[in-house]
Amino acid sequence: VAIAVTRERREGETRCAVTPETVKKLIALGATVSVEAGTGIGSSILDADYAEAGATVKPDTRAVLEGADIVLKVRGPTAQETSALKPGAIVIAMLDAYREKDTVEALKGAGVTAFAMEFVPRITRAQVMDVLSSQANLAGYRAVIEAAYAFGKGFPMMMTAAGTVAPAKVFVMGVGVAGLQAIATARRLGAVVTATDVRPATKEQVESLGAKFLAVEDEEFKNAQTAGGYAKPMSPEYQAKQAALTGEHIKKQDIVITTALIPGRAAPVLVSAEQVASMKPGSVLIDLAVEAGGNVAGAKAGEVVTTANGVSIVGYTNLPGRIAADASALYARNLTAFVGLMLKEGVVTLDLDDEILKAAVVTHGGAVVHEGVKG
Ligand code: NAD
Repeated sequence: VAIAVTRERREGETRCAVTPETVKKLIALGATVSVEAGTGIGSSILDADYAEAGATVKPDTRAVLEGADIVLKVRGPTAQETSALKPGAIVIAMLDAYREKDTVEALKGAGVTAFAMEFVPRITRAQVMDVLSSQANLAGYRAVIEAAYAFGKGFPMMMTAAGTVAPAKVFVMGVGVAGLQAIATARRLGAVVTATDVRPATKEQVESLGAKFLAVEDEEFKNAQTAGGYAKPMSPEYQAKQAALTGEHIKKQDIVITTALIPGRAAPVLVSAEQVASMKPGSVLIDLAVEAGGNVAGAKAGEVVTTANGVSIVGYTNLPGRIAADASALYARNLTAFVGLMLKEGVVTLDLDDEILKAAVVTHGGAVVHEGVKG
């Protein structure tokens, strides 16, 4: 079985889909691995490191893809890459399949079986393949590092001969995987941390990390979690009550980190333009939901916006790509576990009735087979 990995071609994509460690694991599963030259550079992995692990490094994209049975990528392949694939080849990537219609069409047209890692279900057996969690965790960490960098003051309280430096006040809005890591990281840096979410289960998690929980805890709040563990969209009435509560709080914060998402919908706006305007000069907002429309009014994808009152709104996309070596290491392990579902003793056996593969397959046999993407 020939596994191929090409360089990422999307702008700003620093991650890669294999590491020397996972090359060895894939070979142990009975595969041969070809890697395009330069694949690991954004993650500080040299071609020689891949070669030493047993991969064949080739300079030419088409030469890598030719004859490949399985192609591993971070983001979806380009049209050119897809055109180099044989029908029946398998592509595994974070396809972003709801938004990247052209990529899906090209994969369908090429007769490729494409799997979207973002659709892997969050069941216990698939935890080791959960790219949303592995990447969100690092994004939450990195959000705090970006905040600390953009903030002109310190995070910890420092008592010095020249006087005391006050600790930073950090407010985390949305306490999923990213939010929890943001809380933990801000705490480690010595900030005073508060957090909010609409799912009641998060209250205890926030408190167990040594932060304070803040939310309107009414009847609607008590029922805001779906059976799948995700947030429901909240009513306009709830949002107004919550905004009144958080509005007073935001005024006094140095750093606000927002991570609130609702699967399949635009992100809720949690910080209004008036609330941004109420903050002190030098305050920093980091909007992790910026690609889903944003939680912060005025946030711009890929940009740092400075408002008239001197507040920075950081809208970096791909925060995991700003900690690329670790993001690649975890992502590559997620992928290797996924490949393990279809590669047994050096032979590809695709069981599309397997719960995990069934949920993640997007195109197969010249058709779009994923219900959500089809509709
Ligand atoms: P997510 O990225 O979809 O959303 C981030 C957070 O935003 C969530 O906590 C959500 O409740 C919150 N949010 C949504 N609307 C909000 C609003 N109006 N105000 C405030 N907060 C709002 O979530 P996620 O990080 O993917 O995690 C969702 C849940 O899934 C968590 O409970 C997580 O622990 C769980 N999870 C389970 C597994 C597993 O069992 N294998 C794996 C990963 C995550």
